[in-house]
Amino acid sequence: MSDILHTEVAIVGGGLAGLTLSLALASHGVDTVIVDREDPAKALVAGFDGRVSAIALASQRMLAAIGLWRHVSEAQPMWDIRVSDGASPLFVHYDHAVLGEDPFGWLVENRVMRQAQQAALADHPGLRLLAPLGVASVERGQPGSGAPAQLTLGDGRKVSARLVVGADGRGSAIRQAAGIKTMEWAYRQTGIVCTVWHERPHHGVAQERFLPAGPFAILPMTDEAARDGAAGRHRSSLVWTEPPERAAAILALDEGGFVAEMRQRFGDHFGALGLVGPRWSYPLSFLHAERYVDHRLALVGDAAHGIHPIAGQGLNLGLRDVAALTEAVVRARRLGLDPGQADVLEGYEDWRRVDTVVLSAVTDVLTRLFSNDIAPLRLARDLGLGLVQQIAPAKTFFMRHAMGDVGKLPKLLRGERV
Ligand SMILES: Cc1cc2nc3c(=O)[nH]c(=O)nc-3n(C[C@H](O)[C@H](O)[C@H](O)COP(=O)(O)OP(=O)(O)OC[C@H]3O[C@@H](n4cnc5c(N)ncnc54)[C@H](O)[C@@H]3O)c2cc1C
Repeated sequence: MSDILHTEVAIVGGGLAGLTLSLALASHGVDTVIVDREDPAKALVAGFDGRVSAIALASQRMLAAIGLWRHVSEAQPMWDIRVSDGASPLFVHYDHAVLGEDPFGWLVENRVMRQAQQAALADHPGLRLLAPLGVASVERGQPGSGAPAQLTLGDGRKVSARLVVGADGRGSAIRQAAGIKTMEWAYRQTGIVCTVWHERPHHGVAQERFLPAGPFAILPMTDEAARDGAAGRHRSSLVWTEPPERAAAILALDEGGFVAEMRQRFGDHFGALGLVGPRWSYPLSFLHAERYVDHRLALVGDAAHGIHPIAGQGLNLGLRDVAALTEAVVRARRLGLDPGQADVLEGYEDWRRVDTVVLSAVTDVLTRLFSNDIAPLRLARDLGLGLVQQIAPAKTFFMRHAMGDVGKLPKLLRGERV
C-alpha cells in the first residue's frame, strides 16, 4: 500500500485561518489535507485561548456561505463602536443604523469558533485533518517541472499536493524554509486579556479607549446562561495593553488587586464588576512577509502578516486571504489549470497586497500615535477624533472598513459561493 496521500491542496497550520481555508476549499469540492501540530481536543479547553475576536460583517458572510457560521453556538452582534482618548471629552461614535440594519460584525470567543470549525469538519468527510502532527520537510521541486510538492510528516508519511499553504502563524516554518523574508518589530506592549462580568448591560457597544500606556478595548459578549431561574450576568472581554514590565506586575496581583487596577481604567458606568475565569497575556508585535507566494506555495493569515490588535482586524485580514485564495483556486480548477501555477498564485497575491499593506501601516501608525501621553500628539489625535465625529463621509469610510466592506471583495465576502 502506498504511504503517500495525494491531494490538491495541503494546508500546514489548523489555526482559525487555516481551518477556515480548509472548510472553504472543501465546501467547493477541492480535495484538501490539513496538518496541525496541536491536538484538536486541547485547542477546545477553556485555558487554551481566552481571546474573543471581532468578526467583521464581510468575514461573517463568508463563514455563513461556507456552512461554518451555523455551527457557531454563541455570537454577540456589535451594534455600535465608541472610540475615545483617555480623559478627553472628544470621542467618535459609530452607529450601525447609519448604514443599514446589519451590525458592524460579531464578537465570538475563539474557543467557540474552534468548536464550530471542528464540528463543521464532519460536514466534509473527504477533508482530512492530520493532528497532532508536525511537518518534517517540504519539497516544492523546480518551477516548470510540473511535479507536485511533497510534504514529509512527523510520522514519516508523505503528502503530495499541487499547492502547499502556509497557515502556520507568525513563526511560520513554511515561510522560513521558502526563504521569504519579513519585516518585524515588537511593540514593547503586552495585551492582557480577560473576561469581565458587569452589572449594567453593554447594549452591543464595543469601546476602544486610548490610554497613555496603550489601547484598552471593552468588547461586548453574550450574557452568561441563566441559572436557577436567575438571568445570566452581562459579560465583556477586555484587551488591555500595558508595557511588558507593568503588565507582568498587574498579572501577578491577586484577584482583588487586579480588579482594582482594572476598575481604574474601566470606570463605573457598568456598575459593579468582577473577573470571570483566568487572565491571559500576549506579547504584541508586527510582521509582514515580503512575498505571500512562491513556487507551489501561498501564505495566509499571520504567517503572511501579523498586526497589533488595536483595530481587531488581524484575523479578518486572514479571513480575507482565505476568501481570495479560495476564489483563485476554485476558478483555476474550473479552467483545468494547476492551482499551484505561478499566475494563479500571483493573482492571489495581487488581490491581497494592497489591503494588507494599508491596514498593517494604518494599525502601526495608530498604535504609535495613541500609545503615549505627549501633549502635541494628544492634541492632534483629539482634533482628529473631533473631526471624524463631525464629518459624515469620514465616519462612513471608517464604518465600512470596520465591516470589511471595502474594495473589490472576493465573492465569499459578499456572501456568495465562488
Ligand atoms: C490580544 C489579541 C486580540 C486579538 N483580537 C482580534 C480581533 O478582535 N479580531 C481579529 O480579527 N483579530 C484579532 N487578533 C488577531 C488574531 O488572533 C490572529 O490574527 C489570528 O488568530 C491568527 O490566526 P492564524 O490561523 O493565521 O495563526 P495562528 O492562530 O498562529 O495558527 C497557526 C496554527 O499553525 C499551527 N502550526 C504552527 N507551526 C506548525 C507546524 N510546523 N506544523 C503544523 N502545524 C503548525 C499551530 O499549531 C496553529 O494551530 C487578536 C490578537 C491578539 C494577540
